[in-house]
Amino acid sequence: MDDMYDVVVIGGGAAGLSGALALSRARRSVLVIDAGSPRNAPAEHMHNYLGREGLPPAELLMGGREEVAAYGGEIMPGTAASAERTADGTFRVVLTDGRTVLARRLLVTTGLIDELPDVPGLAQRWGRDVLHCPYCHGWETRDKPIGVLATGPLAVHQALTWRQWTDRVTLLLADAIEPTDDEFNQLAARGISVVDGAVAGLEVADDRLTGVRMQTSKVFPLEAVVVATTLVARSQVLESLGLETTDQKMGGHVIGTAVATDATGATAVPGVWAAGNVTDPKAQVIIAAAAGLNAAAAINTDLIGEDTRLAVEGVLSR
Ligand SMILES: Cc1cc2nc3c(=O)[nH]c(=O)nc-3n(C[C@H](O)[C@H](O)[C@H](O)COP(=O)(O)OP(=O)(O)OC[C@H]3O[C@@H](n4cnc5c(N)ncnc54)[C@H](O)[C@@H]3O)c2cc1C
Repeated sequence: MDDMYDVVVIGGGAAGLSGALALSRARRSVLVIDAGSPRNAPAEHMHNYLGREGLPPAELLMGGREEVAAYGGEIMPGTAASAERTADGTFRVVLTDGRTVLARRLLVTTGLIDELPDVPGLAQRWGRDVLHCPYCHGWETRDKPIGVLATGPLAVHQALTWRQWTDRVTLLLADAIEPTDDEFNQLAARGISVVDGAVAGLEVADDRLTGVRMQTSKVFPLEAVVVATTLVARSQVLESLGLETTDQKMGGHVIGTAVATDATGATAVPGVWAAGNVTDPKAQVIIAAAAGLNAAAAINTDLIGEDTRLAVEGVLSR
């Protein structure tokens, strides 16, 4: 017999653990299945989480797992491969190792994958001195020489944004964009240098980024490179339930994918909720955690409705 839970949470990052905490405290039986690779794992510190500013990301999750367990929630390391609705309306979750569990409701918080530009050496520095988010890393790179590696039309906006933290910004066009005259004026007015030509790779010394190497072999000394990643929802489990991803846009340009939910996190499949980066690629950690809690309250309300109906029908003892 498969183990049966009120709620199985798939993904044990900030969104999933926050949801699991609220559901465990609501006296629901909860299992969190977690593959253990949160998006911000490469970063040394987590910023803009009020009350936990600068905490190593793993510490927040370690604390979260302990809090969930203290209220009876279970954490199972593993990867969910798919989920299906069974004949009696519950969900069967199948893990990649073949294990299965049953749930009355699902909360899917599997996050997203950052697809990086294909530049040699870039992936190895990701989250350390190859950066994407000024709110996560801007303060730490203040006043330093940084390069914005253009991969699409939002690069000018990105360069102007990072200029808030440092006046030593170089926009590397990398054969990806050609700014308009207006944009060149804006960049010049903010003191942002523009460099033409393709980037061949990163220069690293003593485990620190020291610059970018152009295809011409010229090296520009830099201490950080800013990129725009493609934000791809980890949507496999949701897709196995029949849900689809939709393109996410910023300034009219596609920046990635996500699975749509309503304001409570409910997906188009009854009984299935989603929260965090899988449904909102812009969500920072504190926002993902809040979304997990929001969804948990909606799931609990839904279960209360079902329990009440079953009690009225005499199926459930009071
Ligand atoms: C380099 C970097 C630095 C960042 N720094 C900050 C910062 O300083 N401050 C900030 O607020 N935000 C920061 N962020 C953003 C932050 O990572 C996200 O806001 C946050 O991770 C979203 O939480 P989540 O719970 O939605 O997803 P995640 O944290 O990615 O958690 C998802 C979890 O689900 C698991 N999972 C995925 N698929 C499955 C599956 N099929 N079965 C079981 N488990 C699965 C994953 O292994 C992971 O543990 C940063 C992001 C990056 C890339």
